[in-house]
Amino acid sequence: MNPSTSSKLDRTENFGGNLFIDTRSVTEDAIPFTQAVINGLAPGGGLYVPQEIPELTIEDITSLADMPYWQRAAAIYKAFNIDLDDAKIDELMQRSYGDNFDTPDICPITSIDEKTHVLELWHGPTSAFKDMALQCLPHFFAASAEKLRSDGDLDNEFCILVATSGDTGKAALEGFKGVEGVSIGVLFPDGGVSDIQRKQMVTTTGSNVYVWAVRGNFDDCQTTLKKVFADTSFAEEIMHDYSVAFSSANSINWGRLLPQIVYYVSTYAELVATGKIEAGSPIDVCVPTGNFGNILAAWYASRMGTPIEHLFCASNENRVLTDFINTGTYDISDREFVLTPSPSMDILVSSNLERQLFELTERDGKSISGWMTDLNTNRTFQVSKDVFGGMREQFLSDSIDNEECLETIRSVFKEHDYLIDPHTAVAYAVAENLRGDNPVVVASTAHWAKFGDNVYRALHNIDPGTPLPDDVAKLTGCELNKLIAKETSKHDIPAGLADLDTMTPRFNEVIDGNVTAVEQAAMRFLTEQS
Ligand SMILES: *Cc1c(COP(=O)(O)O)cnc(C)c1O
Repeated sequence: MNPSTSSKLDRTENFGGNLFIDTRSVTEDAIPFTQAVINGLAPGGGLYVPQEIPELTIEDITSLADMPYWQRAAAIYKAFNIDLDDAKIDELMQRSYGDNFDTPDICPITSIDEKTHVLELWHGPTSAFKDMALQCLPHFFAASAEKLRSDGDLDNEFCILVATSGDTGKAALEGFKGVEGVSIGVLFPDGGVSDIQRKQMVTTTGSNVYVWAVRGNFDDCQTTLKKVFADTSFAEEIMHDYSVAFSSANSINWGRLLPQIVYYVSTYAELVATGKIEAGSPIDVCVPTGNFGNILAAWYASRMGTPIEHLFCASNENRVLTDFINTGTYDISDREFVLTPSPSMDILVSSNLERQLFELTERDGKSISGWMTDLNTNRTFQVSKDVFGGMREQFLSDSIDNEECLETIRSVFKEHDYLIDPHTAVAYAVAENLRGDNPVVVASTAHWAKFGDNVYRALHNIDPGTPLPDDVAKLTGCELNKLIAKETSKHDIPAGLADLDTMTPRFNEVIDGNVTAVEQAAMRFLTEQS
């Protein structure tokens, strides 16, 4: 961590020297961090990964425990030797991880027993783990744009457009609101998100934000938005009239992955500092997985030297990743998309897996390109024996059905007086199934009050998918949470969720789910902004 003792990390001689390469090797150009953050995707659809993964000693890692969280994050960013200077990184990290979180620990650990440590990643403004990255990325996005502008490589501003099925939209709104040179518009399916999620979005403050409800489902939102992004003549018009480019800042952006590595390294340091593990002793990590970002961050942390032995990939009934890790074949050719109590893990194409495969093939872009083509054309691909073997050395996976998910919420509450959300419950149950002798860190990705209806079902032994009793069904999301809090004596409902019923909705526009309607809406928003 100390740059002067490690030539590899010596930023004075090789400032910003860690460049980013494309997982599909379509382009041989390696680009700096700031450009990778602005580009998002590599040309040809590949993902950017760092050429060099810094290695930390166990002393480097444990020394993090003496610093506030923002400084730990800054240390990891500096270790990756990105092309922003130390003072800038410090400044941005202080803004990212300050009193916007409800605890100075940022992501505290609750130890259920000696060998089960729950890493609470939901203490940010929107009460879900997306905040860990989305409170940070927008600052680095704006700073990257500023740097490219001052280098003469860019002369426009940005408008982020996001289609959301719930959690991401609000986390992105909170992250980008008030950020210079960037505005953000969010599209959600009208009637397709929970009462809490809708209220969270439409009450967002800030002058550079906008929210639209779209007639249709999430898929319609996403497909329409993809078409808007692909409409080059619209992009040219917007660039000409407003000097603005659209961007998505989605979960495959390296700038969203890097902040997630921080909390795994930091958690290890914290467990050592609090005497829960010995420095150097192995732990396992269990992650409720959708797009493979969170668990990939844990892999990077282990690759950097954090003693993480096994990575448990936890799936819900959409178990494409579990089957892949257990067979080496990724197959969605005959797989139905299932709705579960853990909607943020309801996914068929897990984009960040591509980065993991790139590393497992020892960076063989040709193989990755081939498999992604197979996935596109045949809806399936199979990795080689070697890659499968390499994956099995560290990854284990299991899936939990909807019923077991709710049972786990109920039993963890009964036995440990600890209330978890359905995503965390999937990971908790999988950890129980897969654990060996190592202590396990279970990634907890949402506060229970974001998913009150299923938490209520769990506590009252109501089957998943069954309607709630009439007197409960008529409650608002906030009222239901208050009822659960009363019944369980868990009164820790985060401020951002507790007061939603009393906040004034700012956005009530409902638009059609077609390209013209979305483009016109975006245009009105940009006119208002300019
Ligand atoms: C996004 C999300 C996940 C899945 O994380 P990935 O990085 O996509 O694997 C799990 N739980 C919650 C609550 C989320 O919002």
